[in-house]
Amino acid sequence: MKTVFIIIKMGEEKTMYNLRKTVLLVILIFLTVPLGQALAAELVVYSARKEHLIKPLFEAYKKETGTEITFVTDKAGPLLQRLKAEGKNTRADLLITVDAGNLWHAANEGLLLPVTSATLGNNVPEHLRDPQSRWFGLSLRARTIVYSTERVNPQELSTYESLGDAHWNNRLLLRTSKKVYNQSLVAMLIAEHGEKLTEQLVRSWVANLAAPPFSNDTKVMEAIVAGQGDVGIVNTYYFGRLLRKNPDLKLALYWPNQQSGGVHVNVSGAGVTTHGKNRAEAIKFLEWLSSEKAQNLYADANLEYPVNPRVANNPEVDAWGHFQQSQFNLSRAGELQTAAIRLMDRAGYR
Ligand code: FE
Repeated sequence: MKTVFIIIKMGEEKTMYNLRKTVLLVILIFLTVPLGQALAAELVVYSARKEHLIKPLFEAYKKETGTEITFVTDKAGPLLQRLKAEGKNTRADLLITVDAGNLWHAANEGLLLPVTSATLGNNVPEHLRDPQSRWFGLSLRARTIVYSTERVNPQELSTYESLGDAHWNNRLLLRTSKKVYNQSLVAMLIAEHGEKLTEQLVRSWVANLAAPPFSNDTKVMEAIVAGQGDVGIVNTYYFGRLLRKNPDLKLALYWPNQQSGGVHVNVSGAGVTTHGKNRAEAIKFLEWLSSEKAQNLYADANLEYPVNPRVANNPEVDAWGHFQQSQFNLSRAGELQTAAIRLMDRAGYR
């Protein structure tokens, strides 16, 4: 206001009116532009999670905070490559991807920033986040046993290890070992049992295969329904999707290792990028994603489990039953991935 007064005093009488108009305009511009910018914060997200799963979250967040989120979706590999190639020039503030193995790789490449946040520490259980706080699990999926309800009594089942017993000879179906989900599963088995026992276990699975490994989890389940095999190992949400399509599905999930180690779980999760330009905003959004109000929106969209222990499961997911999960930190899935790939190769798991 001081500046305005001086300008007005300096002006001549007859131009006074015009000057006032100009000054008013300048004040208006000053008031609207910087405030507008401060209100509409911006974020750029790179996401390996599909658009239809994340867009409702971005919209809900915008409604609540005004933050405008632009995003790029692609598979995890190309997104990591892109982040790496862009280096300091990247526009990405946050990376969202599936599988702890992928999150671990992003962190290991220096693409993610350690984030100190009491909120995230409180909302995300310790085993579902990076020990160095560079990534945080946001939704949980179990990789568990699926069986034919027509040919298998669940009492015949007990552990992942037992799928290698003679009882399941020519009855087991698996997805390809090329998929990161199986690499993470085997890596976590190595973390738990060591390489030697895990190799014996994987060999016993391979010996029981009723067909060569399938390209995805849904095909494994469809083959069980078709009678090509009786048991398999799949991610829970694929089972959920199939069950939605066919409520009379002759399949059920089984929770193995309830007396020993728990069910193998994995996450989809996110980390703040090292070279993002909106760091504080990115952390705020990440905290929001882990919060009670966002967790169902995030997990339910893909029939997953919330990671936040204070958030209830979607009823559809809850109907599959409750289970003890493995408490091994998921960073092991990344650390032991190479060992897992080599092991599966040695064991003849294609
Ligand atoms: Fe998947």
